Amino acid sequence: MNWARELSKGLIDPSQLKKSGLLPDLSVQQCQALKDNFDIRVPVAFLENATEAIKKQVIPDIRELNFMNQELVDPVGDEKHSPLKGITHRYIDRALLKVTHQCAVYCRFCFRRYKVSDASANLNALELKSALAYIQNHSEIWEVILTGGDPLVLTDATLLPILKQLDAIQHVKIIRIHTRIPSVLPSRITNELVDCISRLNTTVYIAAHINSPDELTPDTSQSLRKLAKAGVPLLSQTVLLKGVNDDLSVLQNLFKSLAALAVKPYYLHYPDLAQGTDHFRIPLEHAISLYQGLRGTIAGHCIPQFIVDIPDGFGKVTAESGAHLGHSEWAFKSPLDGEQHKVLYSRSE
Ligand SMILES: *Cc1c(COP(=O)(O)O)cnc(C)c1O
Ligand code: SF4
Repeated sequence: MNWARELSKGLIDPSQLKKSGLLPDLSVQQCQALKDNFDIRVPVAFLENATEAIKKQVIPDIRELNFMNQELVDPVGDEKHSPLKGITHRYIDRALLKVTHQCAVYCRFCFRRYKVSDASANLNALELKSALAYIQNHSEIWEVILTGGDPLVLTDATLLPILKQLDAIQHVKIIRIHTRIPSVLPSRITNELVDCISRLNTTVYIAAHINSPDELTPDTSQSLRKLAKAGVPLLSQTVLLKGVNDDLSVLQNLFKSLAALAVKPYYLHYPDLAQGTDHFRIPLEHAISLYQGLRGTIAGHCIPQFIVDIPDGFGKVTAESGAHLGHSEWAFKSPLDGEQHKVLYSRSE
C-alpha cells in the first residue's frame, strides 16, 4: 500500500473507533466531546498491533477533559519565542521550522495539542518563503529542527525542495527532523526519501519519537535500518507515560532495542503540562528514581537524558537538576535566564 493511502486510512472518527471495538466504555457523545477538544487519528500500523501500551497513546480517554490549573495551553512557550509564523527561535543556535501541523497520529499526551491538526497553522507558500528567509538572515542558526506536526507527512513534492533550500544555506550545518513516522507510518520511509536525505551536503539527523517497545514492529525496525544503512544519524525521543512505559524493564527493553537498531536514545521527556494530560504523569520524584534505575543495568550509551521542559519557554533541563520543594512543587534553573523557576506538577494520584 502506498503511504499516502495508508495515511488516509487512519481512523479519525469516534464512530469508527467504536466500530473497531476500541472505545468500549465511552458513548459516541463522549467521544465526540473528546474529538472536539483534540483531534483523533489512529494509524493503521498501530491498529494491527493494538497492545495496551499502544492504545493508551492514541485512543482518547475521558480524563482528557479534566484540565488542571497548572496546565497550560502552550506549555513550552513556543508562541512566546516565535518571531514569525512557523518559526520558534528559543536557543540562539537552533530554530524550529514548523511547516505542517498535521500528524499521522494524534498522541493523546502531545505538548503541542493546542495547535496540531489545525490546518490554518500550516505554512502557505508565501509564509514558507518568509520562514526560510528568516533562517537565511540569521547566521547564528546552526541547526534547523523540522517539527510541527510531523514534517514527514508532507509529500516529497513539498518536503524535498524545503530540504534542498535549507541545504543551500551556508550557516545551517545540521537539519534535524523530529518525527513519529518510523513507528506510525514506516512505509513513508521510501527509498526516494532516504536517497534525497543522504545526497544533501548538510547532515540530516532523524529524531524518532518512540515510546514503547511494542512500536518496534518488523516494519518499523526495517525503516530505521534503512535510514541507518544510508548513513543517516538516528536519535530517539520518548515521553515517560503512566501505564505505557513507567516501568524499569520496559524502558530497559526499549532503549536497548533502539540502540541495537543504531538509534541513540537521546531524550526521555517528563510529560509537559499540556491541558488534559494529567493522567499520563507519575510524580516526578518517582520518575527520577525509575530513570536512575537504568544506570548500571544497561549500557551507558543506551541511556537517554531525562528532561523537563520548564513551562512557559524557560528551556530544557535535566530532571535531576531540579530541587524538590515538597509535594508536587519543584524548582529548576533556566538555561536561558539563569533564574530559578518554580513549577507545580499536577499529579493524578
Ligand atoms: C527542544 C527544543 C529545541 C532543541 O533542543 P535540544 O536540546 O537541542 O534537543 C530547540 N528549540 C526549541 C524551541 C525546543 O523546544
Ligand atoms: S506526532 Fe508529535 S506533534 Fe503529532 S500529536 Fe504526536 S506528539 Fe504531537
